[in-house]
Order: sequence, then C-alpha cells, then structure tokens
Amino acid sequence: MNKERAPHISLHPHFTFYNLQYQRMKVFKFGGASLSSVERIRNVADILSLYTKEHVIVIMSAMGKTTNALEKVVEAFYSGNKEEALRLFQLIKQSHLTTAKYLLVTSYNATLEDLNAFFTEVEWLLHDKAVQSFDYYYDQVVCCGELLSSRIVSAYLNEKGITNRWFDVRDIIRTDNNFREANIDWPATKENLIRSNIQNNPGIYITQGFIGSTDQNESTTLGREGSDYTAAVFANILDADDLTIWKDVEGVMSADPKLFPSASLINQLSFSEVIEMAFYGAQVIHPKTIKPLQNKKIPLHVKSFLDPSLPGTVISDKSSKNLPPVIVIKANQVLIHLQSKDFSFVGERLMSTLYQLFAELNIKPNLIQTAAINLQVCFDDRQDKIEHLAQMASEIFDVQLEKNLTLLTIRHFTEDLLANMLHEKDVVLMQKNKETVQALYR
Ligand code: ASP
Ligand code: MG
Repeated sequence: MNKERAPHISLHPHFTFYNLQYQRMKVFKFGGASLSSVERIRNVADILSLYTKEHVIVIMSAMGKTTNALEKVVEAFYSGNKEEALRLFQLIKQSHLTTAKYLLVTSYNATLEDLNAFFTEVEWLLHDKAVQSFDYYYDQVVCCGELLSSRIVSAYLNEKGITNRWFDVRDIIRTDNNFREANIDWPATKENLIRSNIQNNPGIYITQGFIGSTDQNESTTLGREGSDYTAAVFANILDADDLTIWKDVEGVMSADPKLFPSASLINQLSFSEVIEMAFYGAQVIHPKTIKPLQNKKIPLHVKSFLDPSLPGTVISDKSSKNLPPVIVIKANQVLIHLQSKDFSFVGERLMSTLYQLFAELNIKPNLIQTAAINLQVCFDDRQDKIEHLAQMASEIFDVQLEKNLTLLTIRHFTEDLLANMLHEKDVVLMQKNKETVQALYR
C-alpha cells in the first residue's frame, strides 16, 4: 500500500497507529568500511536488530577494500597474466570464505553454494582470452564484491533472527552498456522495482549497491563509490521516508579530521550546499546521490555505524544556516598555462574549442582564469589525460604545465582563516566570491 494512501478508516486507534508505522519505508546504505571485519559485520547486525519490525531496504558495498583487490585481478587478466589473475582472485575467495566460516553456522553450507556460483562465474571468465574492452571485463569481475558481501551478511542476519530477503540488484537496476560508468535506465529500473512488489511487502531486504545490468544481462558498475547512488535511486523510486548512509565518521565534517583535528560536525545541511561541497571535491557522498533525493525531497542522514546514538548530519531541503567554514583540500593538481599562438584574444571560439576538448577527454577543470591572450586551467593530475590534453591544445596554444600543486577551497570563509591557511604558502592563483575562495599553491 502506498504510504500516501494509508487507511483512513480508524477501526481502533491502536490498529491505525500500527499500520501507519508499518508503512514507513527506509533505505540504508552500509559501505565497505562497515563490513570490513567479522566484528564490523556483527556491529551492522546490532544496528539492524533495532529495525526488525520495519520496512528497510539495505544497500551494501563490497567488504573493506575488496573492490580495489578485484581491480587488480582484472588488470592482471587484461595484461595477459592469467595465472596471476587467478592467484589474486584465490586470495579474495579465501578471505570471503574465512569470513563466512566465522559468521555462519546453520546456513554455512547453503551459503557456500551461492558463493561458489559467484566464484565460478568469475573464474570461467578469467580462463577466457580477452577479446572485449577492459571496461567490459572490469564490470563482469568487480561486480562480484557486492554480491559476495551481501550474500554472507544476509545469511548471518537470518541466523541471528533478523529475518531478511536477499535479492540480486542486477534484476532491478537496468543500465546502458557504458561499462564502468553505466547510466541508469530509469523507466526500466522503475518498472522492475515496482514489479518486484517490494513496496507492498514490508520487511528487511538486503541487496547490493554499485552494480546493475544491461538488457543483455551483462553486469555493469556505476562508477567507484557508486553505492550511495544506488541507495538514492531506490529511495527515489520507492518514495522512501528517508535514506541513511552509515559511515565510520560522526557525520559530515567541516574539514577532513585527519588533516584538521579541529574539524567540527555539521548537524544540518541543504541539498544545494552538499552539491557545492561535492563540486569542490569534498568527499562527503557520491555527487550523483543528491539529485534523486532532492527531486523527491527525501532527507539524507549521514550517521556513524560505530555509535548510532549520535545524531549525525541531516541533509534536506531546508536551507542551512550559520555554517562553519568548510575546508576542502585537493593535492596533486596540475596547472596548465595556455597562450594563444598568434596573439589572438581568448574569446568564445577558442574557449568553446577548449571546452570541447575537456568534454572529449572527460576531465573537469577545478579552476579557470582567463586574460586577454592567455588562460590558466587547473585539473586533478590524471597524467594520461593531461598529456593528451596538452598535446591537443598545443595546436592552438603555447602550452606550459606546472605540477604538484595544492588547491584549497573554503566555503563561508573568513579573511582570518584564509590568511592562516595560506601562511608561508606560495600562491599561484586565487579566486574569491562572496561564499567561496579558492587558492592554488606550491
Ligand atoms: N565497492 C565499490 C567501491 O569501493 C562501491 C562503493 O563502495 O560504493 O567503489
Ligand atoms: Mg565504499
């Protein structure tokens, strides 16, 4: 039953209350860090044990650093090193089997069968010759991280009395075949999800983030750290009441606490503020996550899985007031100086040629400054792409590169803080507006 059409007839006050309670739907996302050890998985079970009477869709990532490890398998395979690929995959298998053995008793054998089916799928592929693109194989191999973790955790929860239903998200999330950065086919995904009838059958569901499939049943992935996005897609289509992302931090912080011990928790943020923060490189949540939530005004909670009693951060439609300065630091920046060869002005024509290049190479300028006959553009130093860009731009411009720079961004800055942060720094470029200052330094 749709929650907007909760029963109007009140048979008994208590009855109505119970029904309304039950109609609420939540989406949770647990990332790799929350599943990185047996203890952490037990901790996830403790959290979910508080929701056994509720309707919760739980989206899970791969355990710990599994995705990185699987990337290494694909790299070995694609460079023709089959033995190495199989060896690396064997290690991943072993660690999942060990985790399963620690956690499971009665359902170990049944789960093992399912895990073996996932292993076999990958191993078959690793025995083949690589005839398709790297990105295609990447997705067929890397997708197993989420399938393995969610399968093990689901079995463990069932053993603990946290009854849940597991499903393969590839039966729901339909994408195009832009492997490694697949785009969601919203109408097809919506149809699959509605047809699954999850919305009408309350309970706990366990599934995977980050992965999907094409209409040819090929596995796809949505881009690194894409599980947050999957959770937002579910929340949007199912009209969830809220989405909670469980993390190993207290909530959204004003700066990286590892770099700035004085960083403070931000209790409340607006969707637009978070989009700004993500744009400047704050690693809050996957940038694609906000739109599906914002469009349906579904609040996003960022909470600590280590201490669920803490309030965390709520991100919603409400405008955020009195925000502290928010500091984002990006290292490993490269500044490209471009000067037009024939001394012609850097006008619309040159700029649009340049932007076409950025789009072709799929790189985003972090900072741009234009003058009469030259301009300076700062990027993350993705070496292959930057070299390519420099080479292509050199047909129209004289090109110079400067590497190893750091980009500081402060939202809601104060002059004092800025001066403090730039103390003894050799600034090469600075831009300021009312809300935001950016400084690039050596
Ligand atoms: N496991 C994937 C990654 O590490 C997706 C995610 O964690 O969101 O990128
Ligand atoms: Mg993750």
